[in-house]
Amino acid sequence: MITTRDEYAASLRALRRKVYAMGQKVEDVTTHPLTRPSFLAVAETYEQARDPENEALFMAESRLIGRKVNRFVHIHGSTDDLVAKVKMQRLLGQVTGCCFQRCVGMDALNALHSTTYEVDETHGTQYHQRFLAFLRRVQEDNLVCGGAMTDSKGDRKLRPSQQEDPDMYVHVVGQDKAGIVVRGAKFHQTGTLNAHEVIVMPTTAMSPEERDYAISFAVPTDAEGLVFILGRQPSDTRKLEGETIDVGSPYGGHEVMVVFNDVFVPWERVFLFGETEFAGILVERFAAYHRQSYGGCKVGTGDVLIGAAALAAELNGVGSVSHVVDKLVEMTHLNETMHACGLACSTQGRPTRSGAYMVDPLLANVCKLNVTRFPYEMARLAEDLAGGLLVTMPSQRDLDDPEVGPLIRKYVKAHGPAVDRMRVLRLIEYLTTGPGGAAYRTESMHGAGSPQAQKIMIGRLAGFEDKKRLAKRLAGMEE
Ligand code: SF4
Ligand code: FE
Repeated sequence: MITTRDEYAASLRALRRKVYAMGQKVEDVTTHPLTRPSFLAVAETYEQARDPENEALFMAESRLIGRKVNRFVHIHGSTDDLVAKVKMQRLLGQVTGCCFQRCVGMDALNALHSTTYEVDETHGTQYHQRFLAFLRRVQEDNLVCGGAMTDSKGDRKLRPSQQEDPDMYVHVVGQDKAGIVVRGAKFHQTGTLNAHEVIVMPTTAMSPEERDYAISFAVPTDAEGLVFILGRQPSDTRKLEGETIDVGSPYGGHEVMVVFNDVFVPWERVFLFGETEFAGILVERFAAYHRQSYGGCKVGTGDVLIGAAALAAELNGVGSVSHVVDKLVEMTHLNETMHACGLACSTQGRPTRSGAYMVDPLLANVCKLNVTRFPYEMARLAEDLAGGLLVTMPSQRDLDDPEVGPLIRKYVKAHGPAVDRMRVLRLIEYLTTGPGGAAYRTESMHGAGSPQAQKIMIGRLAGFEDKKRLAKRLAGMEE
């Protein structure tokens, strides 16, 4: 069982995979400068769990294997579990200031637990038992799972089965007694290079003729036929320069394009195949859990941003000026509103028929819709407080240069020393427009579904007819 950063690193190094970054093969994601920050972030999901003070948040009793497991591989058994999940995510956001990547697997496991159970009830299939056998190994070994949902999608106006190229959505291209063969590509895959297993789910609801697209399964990330291509992030090559200040933070996240080049999946790892009416249910449940997740992780990162903005103002000598305090209060109001939604959808969770607890879907979608907006306003306020030096500051190499370094130290100092100002401004730059901005801003917009997806769900769950009845009664209108 993996419990430490070093054991986790060794387990990733043992995987033989095809990983590409900037036109070159990556042999070891735990040491490559472009991927190491993201490895370090996931490693905190192990290291923080070892701290006895974090036990209640990070460990939970597994009903399946009868002992405590890391919450990232746990199936939520109560609303207390759902609340602890969000609080754990906030804490990890505070520690890493980035996407720590492991929640996609947690959310996929939980969505599959209830969905496979209900597919079996309807169709007499064996998916739930297969899934539990997989989950048992994940829990016993404390593995990291990726959760792969978003397909490449091709022409957005066409259904999966109508695409000119049928591979635009991951689908089954062959099957025999041993298993299925799948082809396609999943985009924006959070942290998959740091995962031992990748859990694949459909990207959208499927119609009855789209049987071959209504699939869910798990494969080890070193399965034959898998290719990983690392996505770029703003200012990512600073990680190749070797200086620490200009990078802004030792942690980071990553996204990859995962290509399934005729990957074989044995039947015992297939959790849905052809039961088209359940594809949409699986998507909705995963999305609801992940929309809850953002009310934790993004809030923890927001805590770091608020702290950095306060420090930047303090180092300028204006820490207690009223408009500065007002902006910090405004940021806090936005941040806590997101957290309130994450907690609210958790406390209003309900058991599904498999026993796994589900969040309240309306409140989870409200949570995520706020997350598509508030981090942008918080980033704007942080940039306001930081001042223009945020994007005009010289490099660390200039700071270290014997000739111009002293000039920078003399003229960049304010209420505090130049080096401190540079460090904190680089952190704000990292979070807002650097590599961290990919997660804090754009992922807040599109991760777990773009804003329109949340609006569709909110519209569906709003209960407008009930609300009209309330109004009619008070207005004295005829029913
Ligand atoms: Fe977890 Fe947040 Fe990253 Fe999603 S974006 S994997 S919820 S840290
Ligand atoms: Fe995400």
